[in-house]
Amino acid sequence: MTADDNNNSYISENIKLIKERVKTAAQKSGRNAEDITIIAVSKTVELERIKTALKEGLVNLGENRVQELLEKYDALENQCQWHLIGHLQTNKVKYIIDKVRMIHSVDSIELAEEIQKRAQKANRTIDLLVQINVSGEETKFGISPADAKEFIRKLSTFDHINVKGLMTIAPYTENPEDTREVFRELRKIFIDINAENIDNINMEFLSMGMSNDFEVAIEEGANMVRIGTSIFGKRHNI
Ligand SMILES: *Cc1c(COP(=O)(O)O)cnc(C)c1O
Repeated sequence: MTADDNNNSYISENIKLIKERVKTAAQKSGRNAEDITIIAVSKTVELERIKTALKEGLVNLGENRVQELLEKYDALENQCQWHLIGHLQTNKVKYIIDKVRMIHSVDSIELAEEIQKRAQKANRTIDLLVQINVSGEETKFGISPADAKEFIRKLSTFDHINVKGLMTIAPYTENPEDTREVFRELRKIFIDINAENIDNINMEFLSMGMSNDFEVAIEEGANMVRIGTSIFGKRHNI
């Protein structure tokens, strides 16, 4: 079924299938379905359809635009946890600092400094992931693998920030097998950094895998997958 059907049962169906696929992939890597957090990427998706996902137990929602997140936040406030997964402009940190469970896309010291400053003002500590540009594509944001350790060492001195792990966006490929190397590489960096035992740094989450490649990502160690299209159907631009 498609997003154009006038009821949302296709979303429930999609979610059941995805949960099955997540479980199978988790088992392949010696883990359980419960070890994997599915983030329902709700960008461009209206409230009605998002509520269907919430009903199916997907309470972690991912948005990549601040304005859209804020609008939905007001409507859904206590029913879910918000993840900012897209590139975040420094001047927008103040709008989301008290609203998000986690920022997945920290990609510069300036951004980290602003998050630290705003979190301090809001009297909270915020969990974040460092975005790594594993593939080195110029169009992608993220810290290069070679700079990751040094970057995280710097962040470890910020007392209102908890670095909880790493995130990457793999290049789109027809065959998800082609992205396996990217996920493997990110996991290596994750393990490396953990082994450094840096003060205040606990590498807990590996956010990688989207609709096209989440199974491969889980097989390679992901414990957060960000899935949009496979849940809600094809996006219509708004
Ligand atoms: C849109 C988006 C996703 C989800 O993409 P799908 O292919 O629709 O699953 C995941 N991560 C980020 C950062 C995104 O912007």
